[in-house]
Amino acid sequence: MNNEKMIIIGAGAAGLVAAIARSRAGQRVTLLEQNNKIGKKILVSGNGKCNIDNRYINLNRFHSQNHDFVAEVLEGYDFPVVEKFFTSLGLELEEGKEGKMFPMSLQASSVVELLEYEAIRVGVEIVCDCAVTSVDKKGDTFTLETSQGAKSCTQLVLTSGSPAAPQLGGSNSGYAFATKLGHTLVPRHPSLVQLCSEETWVKGCAGVKVAGLAKLYANGEYITEKKGDLLFTNYGISGLAILDLSREVSTRLANFDYCELSLDLMPEYSKEKLTNLLLSRVKQESEKPIGLWLQGVLNKKLIAIILEQSKSRVKLEKELNRKEINKLIHTIKNLKLSVNDTKGFKSAEVATGGINTSEVNPQTMESKLIDNLFFAGEILDVDGDRGGFNFHWAWVTGLRVNNTSKD
Ligand SMILES: Cc1cc2nc3c(=O)[nH]c(=O)nc-3n(C[C@H](O)[C@H](O)[C@H](O)COP(=O)(O)OP(=O)(O)OC[C@H]3O[C@@H](n4cnc5c(N)ncnc54)[C@H](O)[C@@H]3O)c2cc1C
Repeated sequence: MNNEKMIIIGAGAAGLVAAIARSRAGQRVTLLEQNNKIGKKILVSGNGKCNIDNRYINLNRFHSQNHDFVAEVLEGYDFPVVEKFFTSLGLELEEGKEGKMFPMSLQASSVVELLEYEAIRVGVEIVCDCAVTSVDKKGDTFTLETSQGAKSCTQLVLTSGSPAAPQLGGSNSGYAFATKLGHTLVPRHPSLVQLCSEETWVKGCAGVKVAGLAKLYANGEYITEKKGDLLFTNYGISGLAILDLSREVSTRLANFDYCELSLDLMPEYSKEKLTNLLLSRVKQESEKPIGLWLQGVLNKKLIAIILEQSKSRVKLEKELNRKEINKLIHTIKNLKLSVNDTKGFKSAEVATGGINTSEVNPQTMESKLIDNLFFAGEILDVDGDRGGFNFHWAWVTGLRVNNTSKD
């Protein structure tokens, strides 16, 4: 039994789990939340269904400057540990595609309500509408200024998240508290976010969605590629493949690299298969306009840009020959789109970067610089891929807070 008084700043995923785990271990825990209710990001996650975790936890799905730290935290803290925790709350999980796990109710609200019930049941004091504005430490005592007056404790946990989605409580405040106490930060950038382009043609294609492949080039050099939905928008491009690429783009743009996407609009068709298809469709005498002919295989909003980027001078179907078909195919499979920005933290699901993890003990999440200061969740320099990996990080770091073998 640990009788220290613990305050946790932030009642999101990590804060709620840390509060329950520490309170179950016999500690006196107060959980402070600036919003009028707890777990706002959980509530909107997975389009309201909450992609709560992923069955296939793998180090490669997490990103940090310090992979050794991530490996140590995850050691022994795979999906079954999270499943066991949620089962203990009475929440059953079910599996979707690619190992994605969801509450069986398919309602994010069940996750929040069961977490809240358990927190209250085990004695956690939850204080909403309580924004912490400053943190200090004198001797063994942390003193906090909050919108509900001063508070103090001997153990402090920062689970205040990242600046992603400020409308749901995303904030930089935890970084400010930590740096004031001596911690350093790894640069933060928006991730799992839509991308902006200054190219005007995308506006004309707004609303078009294709199952494609996006390759990222930075300063002309191939970086990586992702397959999935591509959704053209008024500001640029979105879709699952783009969200998955966005971490890399965000970091490269911050480095002032020139970023360009090369989009394959028909990845299921090899060049050869597409050549055969298109050649087989050409009728020698046909006066059909080329744009109309292309509508047989492509969304009509994309055709003008395909013709422009392929520099085709063909006007009628009968003018098509193998060389012209090759030019069209090259563009359909390599449509270029330069990217100059992301939609920013407001639209991002997570932030890269955060508290430098070389300053944190991966077993207990305690600061190596300040005794009895702990971190959990997205505030740390760790972010995950789409698919439940960010919540996995929040849950397991929450469970690890001050979890020594003495308990
Ligand atoms: C739209 C959206 C959908 C998402 N969907 C998924 C998904 O399906 N699966 C997945 O794995 N991940 C998803 N994520 C990411 C996931 O929500 C986060 O990674 C996770 O919530 C991080 O947990 P956390 O506890 O570290 O931070 P948060 O959940 O952000 O909690 C931090 C809390 O701290 C509070 N706070 C901040 N500063 C203060 C202060 N000074 N005083 C008091 N309180 C403060 C905030 O209000 C907030 O409630 C999604 C994110 C978004 C934005």
